[in-house]
Amino acid sequence: MDQFPQQLYRLSEALLAWYDAGARVLPWRDDPTAYHVWLSEIMLQQTRVSAVLPYYERFLAVLPDVAALAAVEEDRLLKLWEGLGYYNRARNLQKAARRIMEDYGGVFPGDYETILSLPGIGEYTAGAVASIAFGRAVPAVDGNVLRVISRITGDEGDVLDGAVKRRFSAWVQAILPADRPGDFNQALMELGAMVCLPNGAPKCAQCPARPFCTACREDTWNVLPVKRKKTPRRIEEKTVFVLLSSQGVALRRRTAKGLLAGLWEFPNVDGALDEPAAAQQVQRWGLVPMEWLEQLEAKHIFSHVEWHMRGYVLRVRGRGAAELCWTDRSGLETERAVPAAFAKFRAAAQNALPEQGEET
Ligand code: SF4
Repeated sequence: MDQFPQQLYRLSEALLAWYDAGARVLPWRDDPTAYHVWLSEIMLQQTRVSAVLPYYERFLAVLPDVAALAAVEEDRLLKLWEGLGYYNRARNLQKAARRIMEDYGGVFPGDYETILSLPGIGEYTAGAVASIAFGRAVPAVDGNVLRVISRITGDEGDVLDGAVKRRFSAWVQAILPADRPGDFNQALMELGAMVCLPNGAPKCAQCPARPFCTACREDTWNVLPVKRKKTPRRIEEKTVFVLLSSQGVALRRRTAKGLLAGLWEFPNVDGALDEPAAAQQVQRWGLVPMEWLEQLEAKHIFSHVEWHMRGYVLRVRGRGAAELCWTDRSGLETERAVPAAFAKFRAAAQNALPEQGEET
């Protein structure tokens, strides 16, 4: 192992005492079964705790265990996930649940390597489940932990570099207390989330690592952790159509591979079309534009791409191309998972569609 930073020898005891005194109360901490820890960790990837809380409760109410998750229909699963984004997380949850049913008799495996072999589970999540649910002494190193370790040790390695990450993981492994690995991992993550903040000044005055933290002593928190520059996101322009007819609103299934695979979307084409070009596109789908109701602009940011969208809400006549699937307001609200990228268009459709029983 690289030269071990001496400051870290003092971390475990101080950190656990701090955690014991004021850990956040979170539902998955009440009953940390593997299923609960796993589900919460997958939901928390890319999503804030406050946003995850209602989803977590609702998901568990419908799918309380691995068997229920393995058996649920995909559309129902995606509906439960609607709004959380990164839908492959939900699909991988189900794939892993099915693997657990088939290969492990429905019992969540307890060792790190087997957990890591399940679909959608990386080193961090495997470490979190193995340590929190099964008491295994393995690290769980996420962005929060990398930040904290880099600041405490003053290490200037690029934390996006795999070798640096492995070095930090080895250091955490070396100081993991054998009797409380799960608490230690959670405490380290919590310190990164609540005290040693990613944006803006860390709250060093409240931090148990303050007496031995390099970044605090040398006032270098604003340059640590070191991260190499990311390549800028690609911008894609799109024109989105909210097509309304007596049959409801037109949706279309996205292809089975790629971004937002298999989800429902409002029909759209590349480029920002003006109204005459948009009318031609509507006719290409075999529909007749009758009344243009609204023009909208929206932007959605994914990790590598930004969609800049122009939308038209219009009434049309005809059934249109086979790819279009007409759905009424209740179908839009309860059956078809439409990703958050289309939230503005979905709201416009809901406004324009009649309630059940209402005259059109
Ligand atoms: S003392 Fe400050 S910089 Fe150091 S770990 Fe704590 S919050 Fe972060």
